[in-house]
Amino acid sequence: MKENPKKFIDFIITQKCTYNCIYCSQSKAETKNKENAKNKTINSFLKILQTLENDWEITITGGEAILHPNFFYLIKEVKKQNFKINLITNLSFNIKIYQKIFNILDNSLNRYDISFHLDEIKNFDETLKKAELFLKSKPYETKTTFLIPIFKINKHKEKQIEKIINLARKYQINYDYQQIRYLNNFIKQTSKEKKYFQNIKPVKTYSKLCNAGKTSFIIYEDGEAYRCYSSRFLKSNSMGNINNKNFKLIKKATPCAMKYCNCPKPIIYNQIKENKKPIQAIVQNLKNLLFLPYLIIKNKNIIKIKLKQKIT
Ligand code: SF4
Ligand code: SF4
Repeated sequence: MKENPKKFIDFIITQKCTYNCIYCSQSKAETKNKENAKNKTINSFLKILQTLENDWEITITGGEAILHPNFFYLIKEVKKQNFKINLITNLSFNIKIYQKIFNILDNSLNRYDISFHLDEIKNFDETLKKAELFLKSKPYETKTTFLIPIFKINKHKEKQIEKIINLARKYQINYDYQQIRYLNNFIKQTSKEKKYFQNIKPVKTYSKLCNAGKTSFIIYEDGEAYRCYSSRFLKSNSMGNINNKNFKLIKKATPCAMKYCNCPKPIIYNQIKENKKPIQAIVQNLKNLLFLPYLIIKNKNIIKIKLKQKIT
């Protein structure tokens, strides 16, 4: 029997980052919002948590979430409300910062993943030592996965990836290769890159019923909430702004308007099921079409990015 969908919120509190990956998976280039989440948005977020059962997993993310001036305040408040917290880092901070986070959150820190952005890491061996210290210092129950974006792979990077995997195996933790996506499309892989994915294909989701928006959603630093990352620029996936009264959870599973779901989380968290009424998906797309001019004005640089995507 299929498990119930797991509930989660990803709150992107800042898009500022210590790295500048050209493939930024958080689509910094598309949203171009350089502001941190303001106090008002953080307070609105904390108020929303008060209305939810604490079986929702809360991910505080970025950019590098640690860069937000109220990062420590926010994680303490989420902990006070008894939620499990997930974090992710590129490991560019001093180990003492991570140890401070471990001390504050302790068993409330459900997972703390590390992404290794090989083009941005200045001293790989030092970073690997830090990763080992991180694993030794984290709370026992906290899970960590090493995430490895696969981008422009060469012999040097292959060796680095091998070292990362060896460390993961030594500490019996998971590691995962990340396929680079640009907006909603995965970038074509070279043969050196393909071997890491063993022909894993994106999941076709058009018209399938999805609980995203009902049992999971993402919030940007300006308070705008969307059903999911894959389709965050479509009207049918907007859930309003958490600072306004127009924010609301979607009441029931609704059809996916995207051809593919290219964010692994909704699949892992069991959000998607087959749809017996594909006509609903057509209605969703008509709605998106109707709101297209509004969305183009709102996300001005999308057209530029889309064009670039076609050319490259
Ligand atoms: S570390 Fe993450 S958030 Fe920062 S630039 Fe790279 S992909 Fe983007
Ligand atoms: S299936 Fe994926 S892309 Fe479609 S609505 Fe759900 S989470 Fe979003």
